[in-house]
Amino acid sequence: MNAFSLLFVCLLVAGLAARLLLMRRHVRHVQAHRDRVPDAFAASIPLASHQRAADYTAARAGLGMRDAIAGAAFVLVLTLGGGLQFIHDAWSAVFAPGGLAHGVALLASVGVLGWLVELPFVLARTFGIEKRFGFNRMTPALFAADTAREAALAALIGLPLLALLLWLTSSMGELWWFWVWAAWLGFNLLVMLIWPTFIAPLFNKFTPLADAALKARVEALLARCGFQSKGLFVMDGSRRSAHGNAYFTGFGASKRIVFFDTLLDKLNADEVEAVLAHELGHFRHRHIVKRLALLAPTSLALLALLGWLIEQPWFFSGLGMSASDTASALALFFLALPAFTFPLAPIFSHWSRVHEFEADAYAARQTRAADLVAALVKLYRDNASTLTPDPLYSRVFDSHPPAAVRVARLQAMQH
Ligand SMILES: [Zn+2]
Repeated sequence: MNAFSLLFVCLLVAGLAARLLLMRRHVRHVQAHRDRVPDAFAASIPLASHQRAADYTAARAGLGMRDAIAGAAFVLVLTLGGGLQFIHDAWSAVFAPGGLAHGVALLASVGVLGWLVELPFVLARTFGIEKRFGFNRMTPALFAADTAREAALAALIGLPLLALLLWLTSSMGELWWFWVWAAWLGFNLLVMLIWPTFIAPLFNKFTPLADAALKARVEALLARCGFQSKGLFVMDGSRRSAHGNAYFTGFGASKRIVFFDTLLDKLNADEVEAVLAHELGHFRHRHIVKRLALLAPTSLALLALLGWLIEQPWFFSGLGMSASDTASALALFFLALPAFTFPLAPIFSHWSRVHEFEADAYAARQTRAADLVAALVKLYRDNASTLTPDPLYSRVFDSHPPAAVRVARLQAMQH
């Protein structure tokens, strides 16, 4: 224990407390507004749907609070509780400590333990809450098959990547953190490139959009917006969940547009076009490129920081370790980092909401704002999204603007 331990524990506990208090505020606010549909939605959303959304929000927040507590406890047990040092020592009986195999085993163990801690919450969410509210379509067999595929992917791609990163740290001299950063960035771009064509099809079936009338309209919209795409696909999202969505994926030659079948079932052609125009707005405003442009220098700065921390004995002892090899430093760094970055959450949420407003404005110019409003109202209703989030909670956590604000802005843009 040293001053750094104290700072870390204070930030971790303060972050957890802030998260729990905000979630409780959110649930109370939603429940206080449970018995009246906000005026803007009174004509389109029945009271029963509004109440179902309130109950769904409360159920999810309740589980989210327990999940946050378990996550913080996991980090504390591994760091100050000596868990990571214990894993380090256990693997030292098998592999040479500080070596490549030892490092990969250590980091993979942390990954597996983190997954195990998260598992009960995933199960409770999928087979408890989502099932209770009629959203879950996942069978236990499909869940097991998904898990097996994810584990195989993690082993096939994750383990060699970890080995590469650890090898770079030991063979690239002083500036190893720069090479680790370059490899990490290259890996991320590669995943973005191969995800739509090689990885996503392992989990879902993608079929070209067959509805000729809808296809013609979507293609006219794409031409109008000057967007080149390598295809329009429908994904069988209904295999796992009743929630609907649409997204863009890949870049360059692998760029494609994907509609969940559940979205196409719910929305008419005008509404699908408006939702797609919103997604095109993200593309037109280069939101993904801007995110990458922020992420790349940030991750370089973080790795440079790690390059410095790894030389500081107080970093290891402050986080409960007597060993001081690279793999341990990596594990400690990524376990401790969220406690230090949590205060930035409101900034990133704000930035994301600005992007959503920009994409909405773009959709309102390219299609009709009223169609996007109609689509959003259907999605809020069917996805049981609350219309009355706590304003402070929403400011800190929400990537999308509150329903009432978003719809009011779109209605003001209507011409
Ligand atoms: Zn959006």
